Parts: sequence; structure tokens; C-alpha cells
Amino acid sequence: MQRIVIVGGGAGGLELAAKLGRVLGPEAVTLIDCRPFHVWKPSLHEVAAGTLDIHAEGLSYQMLARDNGFSFVLGRLSGLNAGGCEVMVAALLDDDGTILIPPRNIPYTSLVLAVGSESNYFNIPGAREHCISLNATDDAERFRTRMLKLLVRQQAAGAAGGDQGRIEIVIVGGGATGVELAAELREATSIYGDYRLAGAASAASVDITLLEGASRILAPLTPAVSSAATRLLAERGVKVICDCKVASVSASAVLDSEGNTYRADICVWAAGIKAPALLKDLGLPLNRLDQIEVNADLSVKNAVGIYALGDCAACLLPTGQTVPPRAQAAHQQASYLARRLVLLARGKAPKSVPYRYRDHGSLVSIGQEQTVGSLMGVLSGAGLFVEGLFARMMYISLHLMHHQAVVGTLRCALLAFSRVLRRRTAPHVKLH
Ligand SMILES: Cc1cc2nc3c(=O)[nH]c(=O)nc-3n(C[C@H](O)[C@H](O)[C@H](O)COP(=O)(O)OP(=O)(O)OC[C@H]3O[C@@H](n4cnc5c(N)ncnc54)[C@H](O)[C@@H]3O)c2cc1C
Repeated sequence: MQRIVIVGGGAGGLELAAKLGRVLGPEAVTLIDCRPFHVWKPSLHEVAAGTLDIHAEGLSYQMLARDNGFSFVLGRLSGLNAGGCEVMVAALLDDDGTILIPPRNIPYTSLVLAVGSESNYFNIPGAREHCISLNATDDAERFRTRMLKLLVRQQAAGAAGGDQGRIEIVIVGGGATGVELAAELREATSIYGDYRLAGAASAASVDITLLEGASRILAPLTPAVSSAATRLLAERGVKVICDCKVASVSASAVLDSEGNTYRADICVWAAGIKAPALLKDLGLPLNRLDQIEVNADLSVKNAVGIYALGDCAACLLPTGQTVPPRAQAAHQQASYLARRLVLLARGKAPKSVPYRYRDHGSLVSIGQEQTVGSLMGVLSGAGLFVEGLFARMMYISLHLMHHQAVVGTLRCALLAFSRVLRRRTAPHVKLH
């Protein structure tokens, strides 16, 4: 009996579990995740800003397991016995520390590690302690509730006739995560203002500053995309400071290497990622970002029956660089592995075709209505700069494609429609 175990139900792991489960069934396919529900990670800046409600958007793994024909285990991967072909899952504890489910060992014939990534703080003093990162839904919710409390406090001070003060939000890192969050927050603070939070002149009472170490934001993308994003952020009143090397972070401020201090009621760290620290204890080969080194077929080097995909995998491109940590890479790798693992489960040898990353381009969301980016291979194979409605539609279609892969076409369409309806019946930002 084949038993394929996938650890991590994110952009890649969940799509893989759904594809395999529909073909092989729950006896053969098990998904392990440390959270009970799934939110597509590229939406986390919307969760943080309050424009997306995880309680409405989250998809229960139990439901997804039933509908797609895989088994689900709730728990955190804590170890690997590669010789005995077992993964260890930590005990599941209640809030008061009571053990709800004791530790478990889960056997596999094929194991796929898809545990994503976490923030890289580059050992900058105070960054880990004082910043919020967008690694998972809990972090995004922590940001949202902290901002909401600051807005409520500001409103109460104003109502009492006192000085409302200004809320300072500093985002470190001008990559896609930082830029998307800055723009989304700017729009959200205006909506909070409509509900009399953030005062009447909402945008004016919350300052958003984006600090970037390179000479331009979105440095890995083309200069045209960078300058369009810079312009759109400036139009929204976001202060962008480039060539700024953060030296330390305290509870109330960020200090750069030139000695400049940026007051921060909330500091968000979006300056880089690495694979989860837990991977260091599994005895697998890792690169300098703790990503698992894989062969061209995504099998882990020097290991039998173990694969890795997505942000936690170091898969080399022909240039010698690694495949970028993107949802589109995780999606492609899930499709590639699904084909191979189905054949293996049926006792057939898959062809020795290596995984090849296809870069379809990058799109960066600038609030709820704007998107900028470049699409690859659309006309001539070169990057085509896109902005406006077309880019926005393409960006939304990525999220829909993920939902379609895990809930099917009809439910995906219904979910999208219900989101439109919710925007008509509920506040445009989550207020509680
Ligand atoms: C704000 C933001 C915006 C982004 N925008 C884009 C974008 O526009 N386009 C794009 O291509 N990419 C984007 N990305 C990057 C993209 O989200 C990631 O590259 C992608 O989610 C990686 O997929 P994954 O399957 O490797 O990991 P993830 O989607 O992160 O999933 C990892 C899963 O593993 C689980 N897990 C972790 N540790 C354990 C453990 N020990 N035990 C059990 N389960 C565990 C987690 O709960 C999670 O479900 C964005 C990221 C962020 C944060």
C-alpha cells in the first residue's frame, strides 16, 4: 500500500494533496498542516489591512480533505526518521497547555515537504522581537488587531478633545510583500476613516513609511515596474525611502545605518525570507537559506522517497540560481510532482523529465484596484509591462486559479461571487 504524506497545506502542498487525493483517495494521500484552515499566502497583506476576513475566506482542511479525497492530520511536523520512513508530529495543545492529541508518528512511502518559508531577520538587533512579519495568518491577524487598537485609542483621544496624535507604520523591505502591504494599508485607513476610526481625515492621521535597502523598490523586477509602483505609492501618500540599511529595531523606532530614526507604532518586517528553522533538525541537505537541496525531479538529494517543493526547496535553475520563492513556482512544482507520484503509486516508472520553472511574470497589487507588473512570453518572450485593469484582472485570476485547483470550478465561481456580495453587505474592512 502506497502512502504519500505531504507536510504543509499551502500554495503548493494543498494543490498537490487535492490533485493526488482525487486520483488515489484518502488511504493513499495524507496532508499534515499545523493550522486547521487554509488562506492563500499572497492574500496576507489584505488580511493584515483588514480588507480580507480570514473567518470568511479561510477554507477548512477537513472540508477540503473530504471534497478532494485525502486524509488530513492537524499538527506540527517536529521530526523525521528517514531510515524508518516516518514523520513525527508534535502533540496538539489546548490554550491552557492541556494535550488534545498526543505526539504521533506517521509512516510514509513517499514524503513531500512543503512547509513554506519564514522571515529572514539577518541578525539585525531587535528585528525579530519588535517586528511583525507576514509569515502566516496569525501574524497578519496580529498586525490587524494591533492597528485596530491604535485606531480605537486615537479615536477615543479625539472624542475626549485631546491630541489624537499620528499612527506611524514602518514597513522594512520594498519587495512585493512590503509594497502590496503599504498600498493596501493606505486604502484601508481611508475606509477605517469612513467608520470614524482614524478620525475624519483618516489618511492624514496614519503615516506609512516603506524602507528599502536597494536603490529602488521591487529591485528584482524591471525599472519600469519599480517606477510605476513608486509613482502609485507616492500618489497614495506612502513615504518611500530607498538606500536605507536598517541597523536595529526597538519597541518604538527603527534606526538605519546613517543614524536616522523612524518612529514606529508598528514595524513590519518584509525584508527577506528563509526556510523554517525546523528543517535544520531533519538531517537533510540544506543551502545557506536553510532550503532543502533537491535534484531536478524535486527529490531531496541523498534521501530516498523524500521530495520538497515551494519556498522550502532549493531547486536550481540552469543559471545556478534557485527557483524564486513564488506561488507560481509552488503551483508548477505541485503539478509536476502530482504526475510523477501518481505513476509511482501505480507501480509505473515516471519519465526522467526534469522540472523546469516557467516564469510567467510578476504582478504586484497596489491596493484593491491597481496592479503593476510584467508578463513573460506573452508576445515575444520578453517581459511585457502591464498596469491598470488588465493587470488587475490577471492578478485576481491567480487567486481564482488556486481556488479552482482546490475547490473546483463551480465552487470557485460561487466563492468569488459571495465575496462580491459580502463587500455589499459587510464593512469593507474588518472592524472587530
Ligand atoms: C503578502 C505576500 C504576498 C505575496 N504575493 C505573491 C504574488 O503576488 N505572487 C507570487 O507568486 N507569490 C507571492 N507571494 C509568495 C507566495 O505566497 C509563496 O511563494 C508561496 O505561498 C509558497 O508556497 P508554499 O506552498 O511553498 O508555502 P506556503 O504557501 O507558505 O505554505 C506552507 C504551509 O506549511 C504549513 N507549515 C509550516 N510549518 C509547518 C510544520 N512544521 N508542520 C506542519 N505544517 C507546517 C503552513 O501552515 C502552510 O500552510 C507572496 C507572499 C506574501 C507573504
